[in-house]
Amino acid sequence: MHVKHPRIPLAAGATALVAVVALLLAPTPLRSQLEATVLDPPATAPTVAPPPAATTPSSTAAGVDPAGRGADRTRDDARLPGTTEPGTLPPVVDHGPRTGGKVALTFDADMTDAMRRQLRGPNPPSYANLAIVELLERQRVPATFFLTGKWVREYPELTRRLAANPRFELANHTYGHDAFTSDCYHLAPLPRREMTADVARTFDVIAPYGGRQTRYFRFPGLCHDRAALAELAPLGLTVVDGDVVSGDPFARYWQPIVRAVLSQVRPGSVIILHVTEANAPMTDEALPHILAGLAERGLEPAPLSEVLGEPTRVAPRS
Ligand SMILES: [Zn+2]
Repeated sequence: MHVKHPRIPLAAGATALVAVVALLLAPTPLRSQLEATVLDPPATAPTVAPPPAATTPSSTAAGVDPAGRGADRTRDDARLPGTTEPGTLPPVVDHGPRTGGKVALTFDADMTDAMRRQLRGPNPPSYANLAIVELLERQRVPATFFLTGKWVREYPELTRRLAANPRFELANHTYGHDAFTSDCYHLAPLPRREMTADVARTFDVIAPYGGRQTRYFRFPGLCHDRAALAELAPLGLTVVDGDVVSGDPFARYWQPIVRAVLSQVRPGSVIILHVTEANAPMTDEALPHILAGLAERGLEPAPLSEVLGEPTRVAPRS
């Protein structure tokens, strides 16, 4: 099994580990009840029309998408950044070319059933860090958001706002942030037979919001092995890890986040941050310092697709 943590710098890795463990100490979910909820469509018209219903079944994705949309992806989908040939093992990308000065700020929007229960509890936290979004908007900074399906359903208004920003790209971070390997920071493992449907369903939840859609996908905890990659082969996507782990989950101070990013960042870097406020409470405080540090280094944030212009593809390992 190939898990990415050996490549994560020790301090950041330890922080991330503690963070994920803490996140997962919450009790296990009543999944079936929550999974049964119907997709909440955006209240306003999406800026890009959702793909039409399939007219012909596809051998690869048929039966995956209850709405039938994922079964026959349209030519529009084929042009989305990150699109790869369905049926081939998805490429795994850590960063873009090391030339030029572009870097990608990526923000993961995790949402587990435990987090959802918190949102319905007596003192609901926020898992949507508006200060981050406002700062990016105010300073016109491009960014890419890796959304879980459950996060989108909790925050449809904010999803609409992200999709409406021409500098923001939207990507896929699974439906409910389950683990795609058997050993991933104590995240609940998703049965292999459910992996394809989980990720296809998440694309279908995000797609109606329009804006800058992609076929980029990030595994929870960056945990993947060849079996997980093979399950996603029908979906024609690109797996994006990242080469700069900020360690922002559960950080108590903003300074280590800034240090972790600025000490690792290089041209072409993909920086991993979180927009989940209560589980990454210092990210918005770190962000202005990160932006200033990038500018000092002559590095310019850009949408992920622009940073990956000529992706450095890591061959999948078993
Ligand atoms: Zn995540």
